[in-house]
Amino acid sequence: MPIDSFGQYTILTGHEGKGNCWFCGAGFPDKRSRRFCSNICRSKYQESFYWSWASNAAIRRAKYRL
Ligand SMILES: [Zn+2]
Repeated sequence: MPIDSFGQYTILTGHEGKGNCWFCGAGFPDKRSRRFCSNICRSKYQESFYWSWASNAAIRRAKYRL
């Protein structure tokens, strides 16, 4: 899994790790390390993806133990 300054992540929209907003792909106004251009994009991304990402990760961990 790729890692940035916030931790591990999964490629879900294709914008991850490219220096653009993870949800909409817009560029950032500065070089500060960040993942989303706005709180709106952050919450939309989390609503859309984080839950399924978390459960997939849990399933993967469970399989490793079998
Ligand atoms: Zn955005």
